[in-house]
Amino acid sequence: MQMRSWEIGRALGIPIRVHVSWFLVFLLVTWSLSTGFLPDMLPGLSPERYWMMGAVAAALLFVSVLLHELGHSYVALHYRIPIDQITLFIFGGVAHMRKEAPTPRAEFLIALAGPAVSFTIGGICWLLVEAAQLIQQQQGLRGVIMLGALLGMVNVQLGLFNLIPGFPLDGGRVLRAGLWAWGKDFYRATKHASVGGLVFGVAFGIWGLHRMYTVASGGLDASMLWSGGWILLIGMFLSAAALASRRQAVLRESLASIPVRNLMVTTVVSIPSHCTLEEAVNQYFQPYGYGGFPVLDDRRLVGLITVSEIQNVSPSLWPWRRVEQVMRPISESLVVTPDASVIQAMGCMAREGWDRLIVMQDGEIVGLVTHSAIVHFLQLRRAA
Ligand SMILES: [Zn+2]
Repeated sequence: MQMRSWEIGRALGIPIRVHVSWFLVFLLVTWSLSTGFLPDMLPGLSPERYWMMGAVAAALLFVSVLLHELGHSYVALHYRIPIDQITLFIFGGVAHMRKEAPTPRAEFLIALAGPAVSFTIGGICWLLVEAAQLIQQQQGLRGVIMLGALLGMVNVQLGLFNLIPGFPLDGGRVLRAGLWAWGKDFYRATKHASVGGLVFGVAFGIWGLHRMYTVASGGLDASMLWSGGWILLIGMFLSAAALASRRQAVLRESLASIPVRNLMVTTVVSIPSHCTLEEAVNQYFQPYGYGGFPVLDDRRLVGLITVSEIQNVSPSLWPWRRVEQVMRPISESLVVTPDASVIQAMGCMAREGWDRLIVMQDGEIVGLVTHSAIVHFLQLRRAA
């Protein structure tokens, strides 16, 4: 989802963003509740009252989806998986985790946490509705009971829908965790679980089309046309997401089998640490055209300097600043071995925000692996 979204706050330290498509759903839900569902269930109230209740119900549904995603996020954070943001959009919510679960058990628990939250909210709503019914018969409580029952029902449906065993739905993640634990192969488990997502996506699509066809041929009330279209859309979205997940798993599987050695640049030029930035620019960056160089202090690797570190210093200071003052000091995250897989190198770059890593073997620099070299490699593979 590359379109516009707005940050509306933070929870568990995670930015919460609302995508533009979510407002459409909010309006649709409010409209259908206040002009159809609520007047049918609670006749005799004013239109303003229906609209207000409809908006409150839509906002509570939004909170329910958010709590579902926070359930996933809470367990993911427990496994030290950073979460960039939670996005709410037309089909619900997504917690963007920066890396995959470390073990099948972690995957299983993270996946189940969302539906568990939804079922818990459903249970609490049911208890509240039961309690309110005991003391009801006053007019004022009828609206609260109706909203509570609606919210409870939607949360249970949210939990059940997400448990469908098709990746990337939560149930598909549970399936992947099981296949992963059983076959000990993460990528194969992802590929198989995505086939589940594709099967359910296509089934939803056919169901939606069938419902729309039945409406068109007069077998169902015209009001069912909307739900048929909605089911079709969900089916298309699930199929597309499953196909994308499968493609990504195939790609990652191939990258996991390729060592950094095959992609690294071996003609490595290093900069002495006592060089000024002016010397670095004139004698290294400009003549060679590389984006970064390892920094040596008396043949010992001490860091890495790239265009972005130099950019951060005003050119008027370049003659007075030394490379060692602005470089990224050497750390474990800056170095890989030639036998590490490309996927490991990519993970390290993504985690730390680096665009290149130094390849070392037995204390010697043997190469550099850059993000752009990996991208070019992928483009050539795709072309082939
Ligand atoms: Zn979920």
